[in-house]
Amino acid sequence: MMSVKDNFKNIRFDIPKEVELVAVSKTKPNEMILEAYEAGCRDFGENKVQELIGKQEDLPKNIKWHFIGHLQSNKVKYIAPFVYLIHGVDSLKLLKVINKEAAKNNKSIQCLLQLKIAKEESKYGLSKQEVFSIFQSEAFKKMEFVTVRGLMGMATYTDDQLLIQSEFNNLKEAFEESKTKFFDGNKSFNILSMGMSSDYKYAINEGANMVRIGSLIFGERQYC
Ligand SMILES: *Cc1c(COP(=O)(O)O)cnc(C)c1O
Repeated sequence: MMSVKDNFKNIRFDIPKEVELVAVSKTKPNEMILEAYEAGCRDFGENKVQELIGKQEDLPKNIKWHFIGHLQSNKVKYIAPFVYLIHGVDSLKLLKVINKEAAKNNKSIQCLLQLKIAKEESKYGLSKQEVFSIFQSEAFKKMEFVTVRGLMGMATYTDDQLLIQSEFNNLKEAFEESKTKFFDGNKSFNILSMGMSSDYKYAINEGANMVRIGSLIFGERQYC
């Protein structure tokens, strides 16, 4: 049987070295996280605030914790002191709260805006127009304690490869357009987070430089 260690190493070896690999450890125990850690993994993704706080307390302090779920404004304060990157920012209101909590912690918090690229109703996220209007807003321009590093998205869960490719391509185009229109010369807007266990190869082909992989490293989840 393959171990978490081998799984991590195989995927790390399989993807280009300039693509960052976030190991999505949601629902998985600390022992498994430590196995990936021992194989060299330092970036882990969680989608529940409570679970993330518990793991952060118990696990090595040099882990970079990525929040990849839907974040409620009233919970930002719990993760602000330590979170490395918040992937799923889907409103100006949430961004304002993150800015405020970052200021309280005397730091800057890195975020990605989530674009809704999938057809499915259930996926959170902003339209391209909404993303652009955030970047254009005075409120956003005044924010001193958030660094928007790029965009994130999830493709439809389907066997239709062409649909997946076109959704990732839409995200890549929105990313490039945002860069040109709003972040000209600002090198920190440079992360495109897309691709999970089932579709990371397509995502990388379409230009992802960060992938979020759970089940291929840790095995299937019992619940989600
Ligand atoms: C769970 C999750 C993943 C990882 O899913 P796998 O299919 O297990 O690789 C990636 N991104 C987000 C936002 C998730 O919630």
